Amino acid sequence: MSEKFTAKDIKIEKTAQPKIKPPPSDMIFGKNFSDHMFVMEYNQDKGWNNPKIVPYGNISLSPAAMVFHYGQELFEGLKAYRTDSGKVQLFRPEKNVARMNWTCDRLCIPEVDPEFALEAIKEIVRFDSDWVPSEPEYSLYIRPVIFATDPFIGVKPSSTYLFIIILSPVGAYYPEGINPVKIYVENEYVRAVKGGLGFAKAGANYAASLKAQGKAKNIGYAQVMWLDGIERKYIDEVGTMNVFFMIDNKIITPSLDGSILPGVTRDSCIHLLKDWGYTVEERKLALSEIIEANKNGKLNEAFGTGTAAVISPIGILNNNGDIIAINNQKIGPVAQKLYDTLTGIQWGKIEDKYGWTVEL
Ligand SMILES: *Cc1c(COP(=O)(O)O)cnc(C)c1O
Repeated sequence: MSEKFTAKDIKIEKTAQPKIKPPPSDMIFGKNFSDHMFVMEYNQDKGWNNPKIVPYGNISLSPAAMVFHYGQELFEGLKAYRTDSGKVQLFRPEKNVARMNWTCDRLCIPEVDPEFALEAIKEIVRFDSDWVPSEPEYSLYIRPVIFATDPFIGVKPSSTYLFIIILSPVGAYYPEGINPVKIYVENEYVRAVKGGLGFAKAGANYAASLKAQGKAKNIGYAQVMWLDGIERKYIDEVGTMNVFFMIDNKIITPSLDGSILPGVTRDSCIHLLKDWGYTVEERKLALSEIIEANKNGKLNEAFGTGTAAVISPIGILNNNGDIIAINNQKIGPVAQKLYDTLTGIQWGKIEDKYGWTVEL
């Protein structure tokens, strides 16, 4: 059993060469990293141990490290936001930690003490808090990652792991403002099936998705819409986002049945929508129902939800060449209100009556 750690157990090695921060125009998602990273090790004797904050830099692994061979790896994604008063806050980080641990369980990776994982996230962000940008809609993206390091190429769960948290300053996902995107309905490849890894934030899901994503990009589409892997009839997700449809003034999102990643943004949207008096249905949603609703003029809105873009309205769905145009390719009032409310809470511009923000 691991020792119980607290923030003061984190050893600190400060960089001797702080980086020059990139100009805001170069804060492209995932390109630049802050001065430090959090690192913790796992082995069978000590469990999770040796938490530290060290200068951001390369790590050394055996070419036999299990992650390279069998993909035993997971990640998380959340952001730190700077408010107008200069404070830094996180948005529902305990949800990311909980998801990290259920992903651990699915991938046979030992779980991390959730209280300490949250402390680790807070500590590394605090330590590099001068990397949290203050430009409007800019944030510091937080990327925890855990992977198998055992230098052994037999197939089994690794007996050693690394848990690392890196930080990347990012600008607005859509610098021109949120405009509806074009989505390609993927009928050939699938992302995940019930019983597989779909509900877990595993890198393997992304490896499975790249082929379809590339195909869609090549013909001018921003993302793919995934159908269920068995009948290819029901909607799962949109690329790296959960998806919502408003049909006849009711809001429908696919239920979490094992093949879908339970997004924090998805959960927050459901809360807000119910609070605003909307009917929200979490259920199986057939593509045919969307096509039908569109024919009858009842498809009001569609949008994706995720930490990176927050809300991404869908203007066009292309299903095997049939084009479904939604809300005249304009952002709808529901998507706009969700975007304004969530970003308002995240950047501390509107009151957080749900207790979602965590100040550092
Ligand atoms: C991370 C992710 C999401 C969005 O989750 P959030 O917690 O809202 O950021 C949706 N789908 C997939 C496949 C994801 O990996």
